[in-house]
Amino acid sequence: MTTSHPVCLLGAGPGDPELLTLKALKRLQGAEVILSDDLVDARVLALANPAARVLRVGKRGGCVSTEQRFIHELMIREARAGHRVVRLKGGDPFVFGRGGEEMDALQAAGIAVEVVNGISAGLAAPASIGVPVTDRRCTPGVALVTGHNGEGGVAPDWAALAQSRLTLVIYMGLARAEAIVQALVDGGLPAHTPAAAIASAHTPRQRQQLCRLAELPAMLLREQLASPAILVVGEVVGLSAAWQGLQAELGLQRSA
Ligand code: SAH
Repeated sequence: MTTSHPVCLLGAGPGDPELLTLKALKRLQGAEVILSDDLVDARVLALANPAARVLRVGKRGGCVSTEQRFIHELMIREARAGHRVVRLKGGDPFVFGRGGEEMDALQAAGIAVEVVNGISAGLAAPASIGVPVTDRRCTPGVALVTGHNGEGGVAPDWAALAQSRLTLVIYMGLARAEAIVQALVDGGLPAHTPAAAIASAHTPRQRQQLCRLAELPAMLLREQLASPAILVVGEVVGLSAAWQGLQAELGLQRSA
């Protein structure tokens, strides 16, 4: 019987390959089979062992999403065949990456799991525009939440978040931005709270826009920011140089 290597659930970070950890790079270079999500940047895959078999098992890009169960079976089969398997995910595997479900399936099959963290988009995107998400002058902390409405999971309690004083970092929030903003304002978050949307952070396609919370849905429509994007809501957005620049610009427009 072949002894299987642990399957590595590996975070690829948000895009820029320089944001990979050294451990992630090592595991990519040693991989024999890589099951990769579509969100993973091609520049990261280019660093992997050239002899590795790369299987795209993504959920985006217009193709039919690969069933989660099929991904589990594939990982188990490849690991049992004695291959060094890397399950490569954008950002961090345990932050909205289904890493937990995959860990469970592997462990239930008697296969050990190694988790290699990646820099999650929800931390990397705000940092890329100078937003310090837990700045103690404004907030007691940060909440990483999904903008999805809870299909197959638990939906965020927007009213409670509106009262929490936490910085809100919203993943997968573009499609439901209008409803989310409405729920936050209804929950008592001031409509003038600074907000930002950052699309394709740390890729050559990165775009960002800052505005007041109430203006967010209209801004997204006008600027046509595309997925993947992170929304950030909180006073900390106001600390960024980008926000200061925006305010200066608005002041100039007003006085002109
Ligand atoms: N595990 C990933 C998140 C996967 S969920 C992580 O830790 O980053 C997919 C969502 O992540 C997208 O809808 C978007 O909200 C966010 N996302 C991923 N990569 C991004 C990027 N480069 N820029 C902005 N948002 C990104």
